[in-house]
Amino acid sequence: MLAALLLTSCAAAPPADPERPSPAATSAAPSPASSSTPTQATPTKAPSPSQSAPPAAGRLDGRVIVIDPGHNRNSDGPFIRHKVPAGNGKTKPCNSTGTATNADYAEHAYNWAQANALAKELRERGATVRLTRADDAGNGPCVNTRASLANQLHADLLISIHADGSFSKGARGFHVILSTVMAGGSGVEAESKKLAEQIRSVLTAQTGMPRSTYIGRGTALSPRSDIATLNFAKVPAVMMEMGNMRNAKDAALLTSSAWRTKAATALADAISEFLD
Ligand SMILES: [Zn+2]
Repeated sequence: MLAALLLTSCAAAPPADPERPSPAATSAAPSPASSSTPTQATPTKAPSPSQSAPPAAGRLDGRVIVIDPGHNRNSDGPFIRHKVPAGNGKTKPCNSTGTATNADYAEHAYNWAQANALAKELRERGATVRLTRADDAGNGPCVNTRASLANQLHADLLISIHADGSFSKGARGFHVILSTVMAGGSGVEAESKKLAEQIRSVLTAQTGMPRSTYIGRGTALSPRSDIATLNFAKVPAVMMEMGNMRNAKDAALLTSSAWRTKAATALADAISEFLD
């Protein structure tokens, strides 16, 4: 039952195909060519002539980071229900609204708020940040194209923001999902695990959100092969389950803008250390 809940509530991003984004996904996530800052879209890691000195510690100048605010607002209609490739010959629905707190604060809204808080923090550190959806209205990209923008940009990393929805008694805390079948291969999988471990360390130390009590046997890491957003990534990528929205203690944190700012700082610290 727990497995079924996990699959239907949140992470459950069905697998994806490595093709270009669908028209809908493209409109939600502008292509590099349409970016208002085309020069920033190029993931050049070498300093420009005007940046002869190396960036200060914690700075992310020249880095390109893609944030995926999981799910979307729309929960019905032919687009959101249409089946997309899920890998291994299977298909799954394009997307969903995700889970919610018991007071009906929707996961897609949390993901959007948390992703933007993280984007603000990363941009202040000098990173070029792109989101996989343009707003929290209507349809976002299907799960099989969520990694496409990061791949196109050759981003330094992709971080997908979600929160979980387990009804199991006492289930709380964050965990980090890793793919065991990434398009980028074993090297990218290894880098993704390093990123996940860095995030785990910093979230534990800085946010007051505990490691998951119900996923990962205390490791807060969840290796999976059914998450399209990660499976089709060719760059280091992790999917965050920032807490359990169905747990009252976790929900109190997730619904707090002050906590989301704290979590954004923690995630940015982990990313800065990973890329250092
Ligand atoms: Zn989710």
